Amino acid sequence: MIQSKGYAAQTPETDLAPWNFERREVGSNDIQIEILFCGVCHSDLHQIKNEWFPGIFPMVPGHEIVGRITKVGDQVKNFKVDDLAGVGCLVDSCQHCENCKQGLEQYCLEGNTATYNGKDKNGAPTYGGYSNNIVVREEFALHISDKLNLAATAPLLCAGITTYSPLRYWKVGKGHKLAVLGLGGLGHMGVKWGVAFGADVTVLSTSPSKEQAAKDLGAHHFVVTSDKEQLDAVKGSFDFILDTVSAEHDMNLYLSLLKTSGTLICVGVPTKPYAIQPFSLLAGRKNIMGSGIGGIPETQEMLDFCAEHNIVCDIEMIDIKDITPSYERMVKGDVRYRFVIDMATL
Ligand code: NAP
Ligand code: ZN
Repeated sequence: MIQSKGYAAQTPETDLAPWNFERREVGSNDIQIEILFCGVCHSDLHQIKNEWFPGIFPMVPGHEIVGRITKVGDQVKNFKVDDLAGVGCLVDSCQHCENCKQGLEQYCLEGNTATYNGKDKNGAPTYGGYSNNIVVREEFALHISDKLNLAATAPLLCAGITTYSPLRYWKVGKGHKLAVLGLGGLGHMGVKWGVAFGADVTVLSTSPSKEQAAKDLGAHHFVVTSDKEQLDAVKGSFDFILDTVSAEHDMNLYLSLLKTSGTLICVGVPTKPYAIQPFSLLAGRKNIMGSGIGGIPETQEMLDFCAEHNIVCDIEMIDIKDITPSYERMVKGDVRYRFVIDMATL
C-alpha cells in the first residue's frame, strides 16, 4: 500500500483535520500523481456535512486535482513520469456500457466511482485530493498543458467541465442570450465559456458587489436578483439560464426570465427538492434539465480549448489549515471565484 496524508472529516459534525491513510499500490494500468494543487468545490462541503446523502467517513474531499506523475504502471500508454496530470470527479466506470462508450462516463449505466465519498470495484472507500498523492487508472487522468497556470487549472476539473458540458450540449454561442445564475466557482466559468463561445451573457446575482468583477470576466450585463425593477426588465429574455446556485431559491421566478421554449439548465445542487409550479413550465413551453460534470473525452477537449484560448479559473490560493474558514467564506459567496489549496502547505 501507498502511504498518504491529507485532511479528512471523521464525521459530518467535525471539521477537517490532518489524517494519514493508505491508497492502493500502482497497478499495471495506474498512475501515481503527487498532488500540487486542489480546488475547493461547494460539493466538498455539501458532502462532508451529509447535505445530499449519508457519506462514507472518514472523508478526504477534493475532486479538482492537478499534479505531477511520480510512477506509472507497466501497461500505461498515455502518460509518463514527470508529466502534469489532472483528476476530476471520477476515477472509474464500467467502460463498456452505452454511455461509457460515448465518453459519458459520468452517466455510466453500472454506476461510476467518485473520486471521493465512493467505493472502488473492490469495495474500498475512495479518498480525494486534499492529500499529497493519488493513484488512478490512466483512462481517468487528464493531460494538462504546461502553458497554463497550474493552480488556476485545478478547478477546471470540476467547475470548468460542469459548466462547459451543458453549454456545448446546447451549442450555446452567437445569437444566444445566456444568463448565469450565481457568480461563484461554477458561475464564473459559465460566464467565461459563454463569452468565449460568442453568446450575450448576463449574470444574475444576489451580490451587488460583484458587478464590476462580472464585467471584468466579460459578462455583458449584470442583474441584481433582489431588485424587482432589474428583474422585470429581463423577463422573457433568455434562451438559456445556467443555474449554479448551491442553496434553495425560487425556480419559478427564474423560469419566468426565459423566452418561449427557453431552457433552465440546473447544475447547482441545493439540498431540498425544487418546488416548481406546472404553469411556470407550460406557459411558454419552458424546459428544465440537469447536467452532471462531464465525461473524460469532453474534459480533455475543454482542457485543450483552455490551452488554446488561454482560459483558466480566477482563484484565491489558501493554506490547507485554513480550509474551514474558507468554507465559511464560500457559503457567504465571498470568494473570487475559487479557493485552491496549495498542497505544499500540507
Ligand atoms: P459557490 O462557489 O459557493 O457558488 C454558488 C453561488 O450561488 C454563490 O457564489 C452565490 O452567487 C449563489 N448563491 C448562494 N446562495 C444563494 C442563495 N440562497 N440564493 C441565490 N443565490 C445564491 O459554489 P460552486 O462550487 O460554484 O457550486 C455551486 C453548486 O453546484 C453547488 O451546489 C455544487 O454542489 C454544485 N455542483 C454541481 C456539479 C454538477 O455536476 N452538476 C458539479 C460541481 C458542483 P451570487 O453571490 O452571485 O448570488
Ligand atoms: Zn465539484
